Amino acid sequence: MAIVNAIEASPQGRRRFELSSPATLEKVGEFECATEADIASILSRARDAQPGWEAMGVELRAEFLKRALANLVRNQDKFVDVIVGESGKPRTEVLMMDIFAAADSLSFLARKSPKWLKTEKLSLHGILRLTKRVEVHYQALGVVGVISPWNGPLILSLNPAIQALIAGNTVVVKPSEVTPFSGKLAVDLFAEIGIPDGVIQVAMGDGETGAALVDGGVDKIHFTGSVATGRKIAESCARQLIPCTLELGGNDAMIVCSDADLDTAAGGAVTGSMFNTGQYCCGTERVYVMEDIVDGFTDRVVDRVNALRQDTSGEFDVGPMFWDRQLDKVEQHVTDAVASGATVLAGGHKNDKLPGLYFEPTVLGDVTPDMDVMQEETFGPVLPIVSVSSVDEAVKLANDSPYGLSGSVWTADDEFGVRIASRIHTGSVSVNDMSVTYGIPEAPFGGRGDSGVGQANGEIGVKSFCHAQPIVIDRFGGKQTAQQYPYSRSGEKMMQRIIRGLWGKGMSRIR
Ligand code: NAD
Repeated sequence: MAIVNAIEASPQGRRRFELSSPATLEKVGEFECATEADIASILSRARDAQPGWEAMGVELRAEFLKRALANLVRNQDKFVDVIVGESGKPRTEVLMMDIFAAADSLSFLARKSPKWLKTEKLSLHGILRLTKRVEVHYQALGVVGVISPWNGPLILSLNPAIQALIAGNTVVVKPSEVTPFSGKLAVDLFAEIGIPDGVIQVAMGDGETGAALVDGGVDKIHFTGSVATGRKIAESCARQLIPCTLELGGNDAMIVCSDADLDTAAGGAVTGSMFNTGQYCCGTERVYVMEDIVDGFTDRVVDRVNALRQDTSGEFDVGPMFWDRQLDKVEQHVTDAVASGATVLAGGHKNDKLPGLYFEPTVLGDVTPDMDVMQEETFGPVLPIVSVSSVDEAVKLANDSPYGLSGSVWTADDEFGVRIASRIHTGSVSVNDMSVTYGIPEAPFGGRGDSGVGQANGEIGVKSFCHAQPIVIDRFGGKQTAQQYPYSRSGEKMMQRIIRGLWGKGMSRIR
């Protein structure tokens, strides 16, 4: 049963889709895709609004973030209802992943960005400081397109959007066709507090709409989604010579050392792989456990996974897959693993007791590196466990992937954990925690390899929506440059004396 179905186009010729709940399969809504003409008029409004928004200054822009935060906190039930309706996930998970993270990000950025975006006076070195002053101004790029996926529909639309907004850009959000109304909340949040017209808008639609936005004349694209789409967007941005940040898929490894607390590590593995039904870009996809503790660890994981509850409402732990296509992929990975010799230690099948797109929380043993479940991103509630004989072997296996998003290391010795983490070639790593970097707004977040290009969050993330423009001011009012010509032998000799004086033997203190 497909969750997103094309239906008859609107009288104006806009393509339309009908959406069903992945939990109950009941209809939740319909939406129209923006056409190229719609995108053009959305972008024109964004372009008109941008100079005024930038001129307002960062302190006043921060006030809008604070008002949006108050709106989010006041109306959190309404926001949760929309996301639960489209995803079927437990309300607690929506509160953790979408609402808490959104509130924290709004609050943090409103407080920190005015400091980060202040004009900087550079302290120049050597002789330069005698002759020049430099100020770096953080200019907005202009109009930013934010294209988001379905797995964290509010936070992955809102978080890049507010970083772009606070930097003085106007924003067009294109949410996923699988969770369009949840993504649109990022825009509703600001519309409801009276943000000036055109500052943040939504373009509803699918991949075709996203492509029209990318090609529509924006100044930057911030994309979160699959590697395949990321490559297409990078190509289009390269042709247009506009920057893009790409937050793509992952295949994160967890390394469990011999001295790790087994209960804690088992709990971390289960949360890391089952949170958001495993549809978490930094979800735990591969677990490497030292052979001397693998049995105790596996038993604990299996007990915990068997205790997880799946349901459509009320109190439960693991929701449905949000999209039928992803359910098919999870099923294919588990089938492939079993056919290649893996053992199902828990779950292993679609949960047919429930009406929707449910896959049982699954633990696999006897997995080998060649299986799809180890090679590719599964993005579902599946936890494959591999026994290893040393930390070196675990690090080698963890790094044996085209992806490089995140990962985790579990040990009683934090410093040892940090040393292992620094050998893992991923955008971020956690020690004794599931991968939570995205939820820490101070920390730069981004993938290596196929997991992405560029970083969001933290000062680097906000500044990625700016052009750092150095303005150089001559301390002599330009007199030196004005008197530069004609060149002469004596001028040449003086240049040589200066170079020798600065960097020759017995170098000057002002170099
Ligand atoms: P997707 O690439 O299919 O779609 C993402 C978005 O791009 C959607 O809005 C879609 O409509 C749009 N799109 C599709 N084709 C397009 C095109 N040609 N041009 C422009 N836009 C287009 O990805 P998905 O299935 O929605 O998301 C799941 C993937 O996202 C997973 O791989 C997951 O790991 C990744 N993800 C990464 C992060 C991260 O921060 N690194 C976070 C969440 C999800």
